[in-house]
Amino acid sequence: MGIWMTAKHAAEAVRAEVAAEAARLRAGGIVPKVAALLVEGDPASAYYAETKRKIAAKLGIEFELMTMPREATEEQLVGIVTAWSRDASIHGIMLELPLPGHVSAAAVAAAVDPLKDVDGVTPAAKLAVMTGEPGLYPATPQSCIRLLQAYGYSLEGKHVTLVGRGQTVGMPLFHMLQREQATVTLCHSRTPDLTSHVRRADIVIAAVGRTGLITKDMLHAASVVVDAGINERPDGSIAGDVSADAIETAAAVSPVPGGVGTLTTALLFENAMKAIRLQAQTAKKGAIR
Ligand code: NAP
Repeated sequence: MGIWMTAKHAAEAVRAEVAAEAARLRAGGIVPKVAALLVEGDPASAYYAETKRKIAAKLGIEFELMTMPREATEEQLVGIVTAWSRDASIHGIMLELPLPGHVSAAAVAAAVDPLKDVDGVTPAAKLAVMTGEPGLYPATPQSCIRLLQAYGYSLEGKHVTLVGRGQTVGMPLFHMLQREQATVTLCHSRTPDLTSHVRRADIVIAAVGRTGLITKDMLHAASVVVDAGINERPDGSIAGDVSADAIETAAAVSPVPGGVGTLTTALLFENAMKAIRLQAQTAKKGAIR
């Protein structure tokens, strides 16, 4: 029987640091502010945005949530994000994905000022993740790594099987894991015999969006399993990609909810604080020139 890698303590530690930094900024006359764009029609996104609003309030960060109707045009959404990018009182911009099919998420993301890109969705952020340049990295891949570290699991020299190559989690995480000196096997929907790849790994990370894809019989007694998946069950409850009984075989499993997602939300606001530092550094450089 393994242990559950819950994110409660790690998330609390991150939130405490963010709250302290936000208080310092306020004392210095800067009111940290994040703006989020939500398009109606996706209940999960609306719920997530509301959660972020509540957390921001506790951290001393202002949170502006702009909710647009489903028929909003790409031009309108790009216009809002462009205005936020130019507004010096807004330090971080969040896009609540998915956007409706008639809107190019890439076009809206490209309008985000890379210095305010707390979700890590701009082309500049994607390049930084690939090359290891400093920048704002997406929160969910960061969360997977930080959760492992919080439980004392080093990635150096470990064989990680990463399941999922999506743009939000899998692909950025692939690059970040390499820099942690892990050997990474990247699996996806066309990978034959997923079980053999999962079983060979020291660490398994699932970022797919399929309930129960990773089952207890695919794992071994030393497997450490991070579950980034978020799936809605027919009864409205949330489940990950790893079946709950995996804990019977594996050494450690992160729960859903209460694992990667919990830490991700805290790290988004950590990114917002980092964004403020990056903006200040850039302004200073501009003043020197
Ligand atoms: P995505 O873009 O939809 O990508 C899903 C990936 O899973 C694809 O690479 C796909 O393969 C692969 N896949 C699908 N079926 C598979 C199967 N049967 N076996 C192996 N691989 C399979 O997803 P995403 O946006 O990266 O998100 C991944 C998951 O993370 C979702 O559940 C999402 O809700 C969750 N998420 C969690 C957080 C958090 O904070 N916890 C944040 C964001 C997202 P192909 O490439 O071949 O299609």
